[in-house]
Amino acid sequence: MTLTEKLLARAAGKAEVAPGDNVWVKADILMTHDVCGPGTIGVFKREFGPQAKVWDRHRVVIIPDHYIFTADSRSNRNVDILREFVREQGLPYFYDVIDDPNGHWTFDPGQGTSQRQYGSHYAGVCHTALPAKGHTRPGEILFGTDSHTCMAGAFNEFATGIGNTDAGFVLGTGKLLLKVPATMHFRLEGKLQPGVMAKDLILHCIGQIGFDGATYRAMQFDGPGVAGLSMDDRMTIANMAIEAGGKNGVFEFDAQTQAYVDARCRLNGTPTAYTPVERDRDERFAYELTVDLSRLEPTVACHPNPGQRRLAKELGHIRLDRAYVGSCTGGKTSDFLEFARVVRGRRVVIDTFGVPATPEVVHDLQSARWESKTVWEILVEAGVQMTENAGCAACLGGPVDTFGRMNTPLKCISATNRNFPGRMGHKESQVFLASPATVAASAVTGKITDPREFLSGPTA
Ligand code: SF4
Repeated sequence: MTLTEKLLARAAGKAEVAPGDNVWVKADILMTHDVCGPGTIGVFKREFGPQAKVWDRHRVVIIPDHYIFTADSRSNRNVDILREFVREQGLPYFYDVIDDPNGHWTFDPGQGTSQRQYGSHYAGVCHTALPAKGHTRPGEILFGTDSHTCMAGAFNEFATGIGNTDAGFVLGTGKLLLKVPATMHFRLEGKLQPGVMAKDLILHCIGQIGFDGATYRAMQFDGPGVAGLSMDDRMTIANMAIEAGGKNGVFEFDAQTQAYVDARCRLNGTPTAYTPVERDRDERFAYELTVDLSRLEPTVACHPNPGQRRLAKELGHIRLDRAYVGSCTGGKTSDFLEFARVVRGRRVVIDTFGVPATPEVVHDLQSARWESKTVWEILVEAGVQMTENAGCAACLGGPVDTFGRMNTPLKCISATNRNFPGRMGHKESQVFLASPATVAASAVTGKITDPREFLSGPTA
């Protein structure tokens, strides 16, 4: 069996499963957020009754992150609905925007968009927050009401996005009927070269198979090249499995996975016991691709979908209006450090927005020093508009007052993960997906630029 088949077989209590089998799978964690949480809660109450209790209050994780820093009152109200449900159910894992469990969330635009407006429990973008808060464990099953839930496959677990109806059912029963996906195999060899990032690797793979090339399939990433990828890198790759239509993305377990997971679970007091799955000798794959990481180059997915693969060096004729670094895919500390290495000592020439994925990332950037300045100061001096209000922000557009949202038809290069028309705001805007390094180089020149042109510049 493949890694995904082994994970699903175990969760279904079966010795074996095969692609196409329909199996009842036990959930280890159900995650929901402010956009889908209220709908999920509504389904749960309608189907199980107004007094019903969730199947296991220690397995439900609620993370408001999407439409948070907006004056839109209905979006603010969504966070209150989550808080009421958490109180009623006694859920321990709620990463509220405010500290008062009886309060109401209201964003105050009078304070501006850049200074933090959240309390001490807020965790930022759900997919980055889940591992940071110790909710991703090897061998487990994670369902989330968000398509990029597949990011947690980086931790050797089965993680997939589900709709509100399915999530309402999981809340009541702790299980879900799933069809076992066939697995596509991506064997990674070699090492990424300077200026080339994990984002380039996943854009390369999606370009190879098309933005629907993995529809309802598992994408398994393994091979000797994985050892040179950090956990942040693996998260970036697994995150974008859905951009090829994948059901999930999954990595092998190794010492890096163990160190990351153990540290986060201990720090947050979440369960520390888990059993990873290992590769079998008799895996059967629906597709196989070997990628030599050392041969990859900075890659861009052009408008209008993530499969429109080109090399950055071929796109110098495309002039840009905006650059954006952020999101679960491209807003981690390591993403901002790569971005900062390029813009350090330079100035961006187009509107450039930086949105850290989590408050932890804000803290990292404000405390890491490169000589006399923090990384945050270096970014601001380069002209990047940084916000401390970590969250999804303009990655998916959001209400019109969302930080970095495109309210007019602009061309934007973005470290986010999805570029279908209208994704970041105006439906006639164009989004080009790239690594944080490529976004930074392009922000400095105002056109799509291969970041290797800047490698000889100042470094940390
Ligand atoms: S940052 Fe973007 S992709 Fe990630 S969860 Fe938020 S909206 Fe979705």
